[in-house]
Amino acid sequence: MSKRGVLFIISGPSGVGKDTIIKEVLSRTEDVKLSVSCTTRPPRVGELPGVDYNFVSKDYFEQLIAQDALLEYAEYCTTYYGTPKEPVEQMLQNGIGVILKIERVGMEKVIRIYPDAVTIFIEPPSMEELRRRIVRRNTDSPEAVQKRLKRAEEEISLSGDYKHHVISGELETAIEEVCSLIRTYMQK
Ligand code: 5GP
Repeated sequence: MSKRGVLFIISGPSGVGKDTIIKEVLSRTEDVKLSVSCTTRPPRVGELPGVDYNFVSKDYFEQLIAQDALLEYAEYCTTYYGTPKEPVEQMLQNGIGVILKIERVGMEKVIRIYPDAVTIFIEPPSMEELRRRIVRRNTDSPEAVQKRLKRAEEEISLSGDYKHHVISGELETAIEEVCSLIRTYMQK
């Protein structure tokens, strides 16, 4: 029987650079895949259905909840986000490392089901830099930026229970740090 894959949970405030870091990590590590979440928010420019997210309606999302098809889900800034259950378990059984890019409510739920999951929190070098990155992304209204920053502050203050913390100051350094963590756990 082949070795079971490792489950990685990567969290961090919106705008911290998680997406860029994870994309690079996926291209630099072997046998690791990203779990594609379902969300009820509309795609941002450049986001592809089935790659970045499965973009679904609120009704469809609520059906998934009713069918118990989600490993976890959370409501974040008035939008639903959730992890489809079946694909994650399939990949782990096939020896594939799986990255869940989810926020802390989801992380707490997943840890109850998969206590060995490796938790990684990506932090901004400062709140001012986080604000700059969110504003530069130019996808949110000023109110949405404020909401995201407030949520970010809460998330950072509660992040003490993540096993690993990576600061996304210099991006390349952060990418290599996450790659190195993943390689280490995959070899264990
Ligand atoms: P964004 O809208 O910026 O893509 O994501 C907003 C937040 O939702 C991020 O913190 C992201 O990690 C989180 N998120 C994305 N997918 C999921 C999911 O399936 N479950 C949970 N709990 N959070 C998610």
